[in-house]
Parts: sequence; structure tokens; C-alpha cells
Amino acid sequence: MNDIEQEREGWRDKAREVAKDVVAPRAAEIDETGEFGWDLVEEYSKHGFLSLVIPKEYGGMDADITSFCLVVEEIANICASSALLVIVQAVGTMPVVLGGTNELKERVLPRLAKEKGLICFCLTEPESGSDAASVRTKAVLKGDHYVINGRKCFITNGGVADFYSVFATTLPEKKIEGITGFVVEKGTPGLSIGKTEEKMGIRGSNTTEVILEDVEVPSAQRIGDEGAAWWQMMRTLNRSRPAIGAQAVGLAQGALDYLVRFIQEKGWVKGKEDRLGIHFMLADMAVEIEAARALVYKAANMMDEKVKGTPVQMFSAMSKYFASDVAMKVTTDAVQVLQFEGLTKNHPVERMMRDAKVIQIFEGTNQIQRMVVAHTLLKAK
Ligand SMILES: Cc1cc2nc3c(=O)[nH]c(=O)nc-3n(C[C@H](O)[C@H](O)[C@H](O)COP(=O)(O)OP(=O)(O)OC[C@H]3O[C@@H](n4cnc5c(N)ncnc54)[C@H](O)[C@@H]3O)c2cc1C
Repeated sequence: MNDIEQEREGWRDKAREVAKDVVAPRAAEIDETGEFGWDLVEEYSKHGFLSLVIPKEYGGMDADITSFCLVVEEIANICASSALLVIVQAVGTMPVVLGGTNELKERVLPRLAKEKGLICFCLTEPESGSDAASVRTKAVLKGDHYVINGRKCFITNGGVADFYSVFATTLPEKKIEGITGFVVEKGTPGLSIGKTEEKMGIRGSNTTEVILEDVEVPSAQRIGDEGAAWWQMMRTLNRSRPAIGAQAVGLAQGALDYLVRFIQEKGWVKGKEDRLGIHFMLADMAVEIEAARALVYKAANMMDEKVKGTPVQMFSAMSKYFASDVAMKVTTDAVQVLQFEGLTKNHPVERMMRDAKVIQIFEGTNQIQRMVVAHTLLKAK
């Protein structure tokens, strides 16, 4: 094993241990209560899971995208909701890492890496979800600061974050070239939290509206240049979609592992004719999960290798939608095999099925991912 492989194995082992010892005893309760896991923030910070994508010079782990995916997959194997905490922290951080000035990085990143600070990614608005280029939140330059007004919705960690990566338009007529990112700190006058959503799945993650009313943000908290945010966001999503795929793979694997144990305990292992249908379902689940895993790590590897000219956005979109569609199918089939029992809270597969549904929707719906793939294919010479 070379150094990089060893480092990745280290991340996988650490995440597996934390998932087994800390997340597993809490998973059902987190789903039941929908309470945010502050204890997980403590634990993940201790192990560096909340600073994976932050460079070492700012106190972070400087892990690659493959390692990021491995950590997410291991936690999602037990609880997809608890894995989302790792993803969202990276998604909120990446625009700053990729596009922020050194001054902004020094102001924000060490507080995330060393002081257990949380950050969220505020893009979606009531009138602008899939059509992210139509953000209506406005930022107007006044002297040495911007004044931001707008309303963001469905924001993961909106109610618990210390920092908000907010995307607003500085030049509405320029569409994507007018979108600019800002870091807004918790407690800034005019920043408030609206409705907290009650979701069917991924219930341990906090999802809220974020309201900005005449919020004054120093120009130094702008992320890079005016109008640069679209590419910061796209580069962020190219890196985070494989991690969402890894979340789906971990979830699906967790459901299959549970199902295998259930079937073994029932003694349905001997290929009796009346159980053949179930055995075929198991085989299909295992194959589909392996195919999804291969796609996820191919996309992650493309990001890590940075090979010029590879359509990373296409593989990243493929990995997100294929893996989450597999997770939906596997968890639905797992409930089907358990029959009535599968519908009850006696088994984790019903929670896993609800969580899988959410993964098909966030970070760009699976319909939008298909469009990214088709557009990339049709643009190719
Ligand atoms: C649990 C959860 C957490 C989230 N966290 C965050 C977050 O932290 N930050 C953030 O900014 N956002 C977040 N989101 C928002 C999420 O990314 C959006 O919900 C998603 O992108 C879809 O936007 P929408 O809900 O407005 O649906 P719409 O864009 O209104 O789409 C409605 C339907 O139309 C389809 N559709 C839309 N346009 C097209 C098209 N051109 N072609 C084909 N089909 C199309 C969609 O696939 C969908 O089925 C979160 C969402 C969820 C569910």
C-alpha cells in the first residue's frame, strides 16, 4: 500500500469505529426525535471529520475527495443523517477554500477546524431551486460593505451554524455572472432563522429558512471576486456530489447487511424454492451497490487526480443520481422482504428507506443530474 492508500484506509477505519461506537447507539433516537446531534459535532471534530477539506495551514485535515467519501460511506452505513453533517460542513467550506482571499480564509477556516464552528451553504430560495441561476437575494455595495436582502430555504444546518456561505446577486441582469458569495457570521444584525422543516427522512439534520434583512457584510467577507460564485459553486458540487453518492452507497450497504443477517437468522439460507425470489433480490442488491460504489470512487478519483479534459461534472452527477436511485431501490426491497416487520420501527430499514428518498432530492434533484449528464454528452465533440 502506498502512502495515499494508507491514509485513506486510516480515514475509513476511524470512521467505521466512530460509526459503530458513537453513531450506532444513537441512530434510531436521532431519527425519532429529529434533534440535532451536538454530541456528534464534538466527536467528529475530535477526529477531524468536520475539517476534512480544509488545508493543513488553516488547521484542517487536507484530506482528498476519496477519503472524504470513505468517511461519509462508513457513517452512512449506520445512519445517513449523521453522515450529512460531514458533507454539509465540507459543502459550506469549499467555496471559501476554492475562492476566498487569504484574509477570509484566515478569518473563517481556523474557527471551523479548531473551534468546532459549523458552516452551511445557502443557495436555494423559494423561487430558485433547480434553476439556481435565478437567485433573487440581492447584495448591494455601499462603501466598504454590502447590504444583503433575501430569503433562503431548505438550508441544512441553517439553525445551528456559526457561518453562512450565502449566494446573492450583485448584478441580476448578468444571471450566473452576477452571482457573488459572502460569508455571513451568526449574530450579524438582520440575519435570522425562519421555519424549521419537519422532514420524512434525514431527520437528524437541521433544515431551515435563513432570512437576510438589510444584513451588512464587510467587503472582506466576499468570497473572491464579484460574479465568481457560480464557478465556486460548480466546483464545490463536483466535489460534494460523489460524497452524496457515497452517503447513498453506505446507506444501501447498511440495509443489505441488515437484510442478510435477518435472512440468516430466519434460516432462509438454503435456496428453498419458495425463497429463491428473495435470494435473487439479494444478489441484485449486492451487484447494484458494487456498481454504484465503483462509480462514486471513479468520480472521486477524477477529482483527486485532476486530469485535464475529463468531464468531472458528468461523473459527479452520475455518481449522485445512480447511487441514490440504487439506495432507494435497495431499501424499498429490504422493506419488502421483511414484509409487515419491515414497516415497523423494529428494524432500521424503514428509516433507511425514508432517508434514501431525501438523497434523491437534495444537492440537485436526480432529474437535474440526468440533465447534466445529457448536456455533457451532447456538448462533446
Ligand atoms: C433535506 C434537504 C436539504 C437541503 N439542503 C440545502 C442546503 O443546505 N442548501 C441549499 O442551498 N439547498 C438545500 N436544499 C435544496 C435542494 O438542493 C433543492 O430542494 C433542490 O435543488 C430542488 O429545488 P426545489 O425544491 O426548489 O425544486 P424545483 O427546482 O422547484 O423542482 C421541482 C421538480 O421539478 C424538477 N425540475 C426542475 N427543473 C427541471 C428541469 N429543468 N428539467 C427537469 N426537471 C426539472 C425537479 O427535478 C423536481 O422534481 C435541500 C433540500 C433538501 C430536500
